[in-house]
Amino acid sequence: MADTICIGLGQVAIMQEEICKGKVVINNIPISNLENYIEILHKTANVIILSLDKQSNILYVNSYIEHLTGYKSEEILGKNWIEVFIPTSNGVEIENIFQDVIESKDMHWGNINEIVCKDGSIKTISWNNSLCLDANGVFETIISIGNDITQFRKVENQLKETIEDLKEEHQKQQFLFSRLSNIVIETDGIKIVNASESLMDFFGYDDLEAFKSEYNCVCEKFVQHEDYFHIGMIDKDENWIEVMKKLPKAKQVVVMIDKDYETHAFSVRFSPTFHKKFLIYFDDVTDLMIQTKEYEYKANHDSLTKIFNREKFNNVYKKLQITDSPNSLLMFDIDYFKKVNDKYGHDVGDKVLKALSDCVKEEISSKGVFSRWGGEEFMVLLFEDQDKAYDLAENIRNKVKSLNIKGIPQITISLGVTQIRDDKDKNEALKRVDKALYDAKRNGRNRTVRL
Ligand code: GH3
Ligand code: MG
Ligand code: MG
Repeated sequence: MADTICIGLGQVAIMQEEICKGKVVINNIPISNLENYIEILHKTANVIILSLDKQSNILYVNSYIEHLTGYKSEEILGKNWIEVFIPTSNGVEIENIFQDVIESKDMHWGNINEIVCKDGSIKTISWNNSLCLDANGVFETIISIGNDITQFRKVENQLKETIEDLKEEHQKQQFLFSRLSNIVIETDGIKIVNASESLMDFFGYDDLEAFKSEYNCVCEKFVQHEDYFHIGMIDKDENWIEVMKKLPKAKQVVVMIDKDYETHAFSVRFSPTFHKKFLIYFDDVTDLMIQTKEYEYKANHDSLTKIFNREKFNNVYKKLQITDSPNSLLMFDIDYFKKVNDKYGHDVGDKVLKALSDCVKEEISSKGVFSRWGGEEFMVLLFEDQDKAYDLAENIRNKVKSLNIKGIPQITISLGVTQIRDDKDKNEALKRVDKALYDAKRNGRNRTVRL
């Protein structure tokens, strides 16, 4: 038997070859009793070791066959391998392979096939086969070493199915994704992985590749505007998604310009996917933003003069904290305005209010918060001390006095000025500036009084 096994294949075969040459040592101990060793090998190997004759009759099979198929080796010795083990539908095919190999004298080859066990169950075996010839080169036997790969195959098939399912699922998702009506992208915050077709429609690109040839990230398209999120707000090493996620929802808004140069505002939503990527939804909130801005504007501005209204002033004033830099109040009122209305009509009176506001607004610019207090009274919070406030008041008074607009009568104003001493003085300061204005009126109008 050792002679036959000498021509075997695979890991067993190599060892066997060495054994035949009497070279093998295990743990440096030479093997003297080869027969014993081979017997142990044949009993303990977790592979089928099989020897077949030309007609596929079983000349030898090791005891592992019983563990694998339920047949004892004695039970099947001399029987035809193909008849016992090969499913009927594959019999001819396997036989043909055998015969082809024998005729072509292809010494070593491998194949995978199914075998039927005693209880009818099917196992998949991966074979390493060797052709054994006698000293004259005449066929003697086929030695096959078979590994049971049933479990492996099962898992492999399950994996294949899962991969197929995933592919199908992915294709479905891609299809649905591409047809989403709003702009949706998949990104890690640095590069776009995927995008709905609406992104290309919006920016006017044929496909994502065309877009990606010009931009790495959609964030490069965010318009730089102080009211909205844009990448100018973040450091170079920061990821815009991480930064934006930390902002309140109302601040998670970006502005992008479409292919027709129209500006759109988008509220941004994030949904994490795999491998630190996100699906990012851009919901067009342009109309809502316009409306909100309009409401916001109306809530804070006076409709006639377009300057801040009293509510806005009160809000700013409430939040004001007097720190080291001084703040003053400046209040003024048009002198004898009733007469203007009476003489020229209410519409002209309105025009006067408008022209006066424009003129004063220009004078104040960023030095303070200018508001219409009510009727023809105005209040200014100035970020300056009383002296500078007084000087500014006098400037304003002179400007207004010389305001010369067609159809609008000459007017003068009276002003009060006071400095806000500290946080506790805020209410008192309002009363003081009102009193200062009252004093200016009482002392003859067209003047500034400081208190
Ligand atoms: P004084 O110098 O004491 O301030 O005299 P005055 O006439 O300006 O004072 P008064 O408070 O008696 O009159 C204010 C007038 O302002 C009364 C009102 O008709 C007019 N007025 C208030 N709001 C408006 C407005 O929105 N448009 C117009 N055209 N007039 C307004
Ligand atoms: Mg008045
Ligand atoms: Mg008045």
